[in-house]
Amino acid sequence: MQDEFSDRERSNSLIDLLKTIWRDFIDFLFPPSCQLCGKFSEKVVCDECANALETLDAGYCPVCERKIPADIKLCPGGHHDGDNYIDFVRPLAPFDSPHRELIHLLKYSGVVDVAKFFGEKIGEIVRNELHFSDYDAFIPVPLHKNRHRERRYNQAELIAEAASKRAKLPVLKDVVVRVRHTKSQTKLSANERRANVRGAFAVVKPDEVAGRSFIVVDDVVTTGATTSEIAKELRKAGAKNVCAICIAHPTRDESKRYSI
Ligand SMILES: [Zn+2]
Ligand SMILES: [Zn+2]
Repeated sequence: MQDEFSDRERSNSLIDLLKTIWRDFIDFLFPPSCQLCGKFSEKVVCDECANALETLDAGYCPVCERKIPADIKLCPGGHHDGDNYIDFVRPLAPFDSPHRELIHLLKYSGVVDVAKFFGEKIGEIVRNELHFSDYDAFIPVPLHKNRHRERRYNQAELIAEAASKRAKLPVLKDVVVRVRHTKSQTKLSANERRANVRGAFAVVKPDEVAGRSFIVVDDVVTTGATTSEIAKELRKAGAKNVCAICIAHPTRDESKRYSI
């Protein structure tokens, strides 16, 4: 038994060694580079480019679109009843060209390190802004299971995981599920978007929702139809407060133009 075990140990360490050599070889052939400037960089975005990226300092009210500064909790207009299910939306950054390119790489080219890059920044915001002081956990917008299998990752989940480490809040990944496959929202009008996602989500673990407050995480929030539909289900299950955080907030036209 002892020998058999050591043999296995030996072959595992040989495999690890071969993997390391292979990785170094690939790095030698294709040195890791910054996705924005192309210069050599171990990080997905080099420090120089990261420092040049602009970030925003406020969220906005999804009803009146008024800015909500980081040091107050809710919209001064007080639209928090009726049909509005989201307290506020907090985009990290403007939807300008470097951010747009990075989001595209994350969503469609499998450059998953982009999620970590933005997720860490989102985590810092959640840790530092009064906006978020009463929220208990992150809920990433779920993909339908077929879509998840096809893409192999859920970008919102990856963002939430990186944010969770910085903000020291848990990520609840299996509390809300997408019960219906929905077509891409990019070409749809605001009303069509709302209809497209209606009834698409379900809370499957209501015990984990009742009495708690949640930050819904998505890569982009355009009209807010998706996050609002999730917030509606969470509130039905007894959630106290629900807000949303995202990398950027494209207008509907921008979302259509760039297919994001
Ligand atoms: Zn760079
Ligand atoms: Zn408002």
